[in-house]
Amino acid sequence: MVAPILRMLAAPLMRRASAMRLPVAAHALLLPLAVALALLPAVACAAPDPARVDAAIAGVLPEMTAWRRDIHQHPELGTLEVRTAAKVAGHLRGLGLEVRTGIGGTGVAAVIRGARPGPRIALRADMDALPVTEATGLPFASTVRTTYRSQEVGVMHACGHDAHVAILMAAAEALVALKGELAGEVMVIFQPAEEGPPVPGQIVGAKAMIDDGLFRDFRPEAIFGLHVWSALPAGSVGFRGGPTMASVDEWRLVVRGRQTHGARPWDGVDPITIAAQVQLAMQAIVARQVDTVRSPVVLSTGQVQAGVRFNIIPDEAVMTGTLRAFDAEVRRDVIARLERTAKAIAEAAGGSAELTVNMNAPLTANAFERTQRGGAALRAALGGDRVVEMPLLTIGEDFSQFSTVAPTFFWFVGSTGPGIDPRRAPMNHSPQFLLDESALEAGLRSMLAVALEALGPPPPTP
Ligand SMILES: [Zn+2]
Ligand SMILES: [Zn+2]
Repeated sequence: MVAPILRMLAAPLMRRASAMRLPVAAHALLLPLAVALALLPAVACAAPDPARVDAAIAGVLPEMTAWRRDIHQHPELGTLEVRTAAKVAGHLRGLGLEVRTGIGGTGVAAVIRGARPGPRIALRADMDALPVTEATGLPFASTVRTTYRSQEVGVMHACGHDAHVAILMAAAEALVALKGELAGEVMVIFQPAEEGPPVPGQIVGAKAMIDDGLFRDFRPEAIFGLHVWSALPAGSVGFRGGPTMASVDEWRLVVRGRQTHGARPWDGVDPITIAAQVQLAMQAIVARQVDTVRSPVVLSTGQVQAGVRFNIIPDEAVMTGTLRAFDAEVRRDVIARLERTAKAIAEAAGGSAELTVNMNAPLTANAFERTQRGGAALRAALGGDRVVEMPLLTIGEDFSQFSTVAPTFFWFVGSTGPGIDPRRAPMNHSPQFLLDESALEAGLRSMLAVALEALGPPPPTP
């Protein structure tokens, strides 16, 4: 049994020796050398025993659930994740790791070093909650309240980032337990403010951490992340190759007219009528000017503000909205068309229009090779029937910022419990978003599977 395997491993070197037309005696000397060389990487990169991985997962499960409940009960809005970051840092220090804190705001990172050299990878979780008033009725529901953009609101982990933090804390503990068997290094990244800046245009989250030198001394060759997702049943995971989540732009259009009496519009320029025409023309950009069959686009207005009184035509109307795209070129094209359309309509009426666009996140796309490897690891760890293909999602993720550093792979972890139809379950960001805690184990198992696969040797190319 062993001899054919050795011959197979030694074959490439022996073929090269034949090509060089070496004498027969040299071949005899080369064979043992070739066998030794071929065996080296296989031995050096042996993955941890699956039973040890299972034991590491089982060992950390009760703690992971307790962390998640504690973080859920104490949610913090983006850029303000002080308590959460301190909890994470304390845990990582307790594992004997050297911890960096305050990266790009409240970001935390640490590196777990395996016993032997190997690939460098990074795993990421986000820590921020949302200005949503919780209505789950959970015994550990949040009662936190705050003021957000001058409105009194509740604070809730309505996107499940509490689960992401707990899963990555647990993954760090499991990897530390297994580090004697690991080849390579794993950076764990806990980032602030994934949901975007509290003030439009502010640089926060993943980009702020990268700009602050997160990868100065550690260049990962791949970066991985996951998101809990209400539209999938707990226990299953989903992913897709290539574009996965849209780029997220926040746009603002200021339409300027000239104020006058509501009874005499011809004495001024009416910015409200211009804004109304822009709103309709904007829909024609998507419906008539962009190849939405090749790459979908969504252009929505969320706010229109103008005027103070029924009989005054105001000076100005302000519209804000969002653009979602799955292609950087399409995104640039739609922004240019929106600006051109708004300016032309405003100028035709004697007014003017000014567009500003803040990009909250670029497009999230899974790298081809990392999707192949990560997908295979997920199927092996969870079983093929629990791994599904995801549709394109018009939501965005600032995880995409990490794609500027290394190839990335991002997947979704089902969070809706048995007996509830995931298609009808309250979505992420809903005040009723309810995470079934079995998602924690599936999340941890998937995170470890992808990380351990990435630390191993790349699969042979067919
Ligand atoms: Zn979210
Ligand atoms: Zn989220």
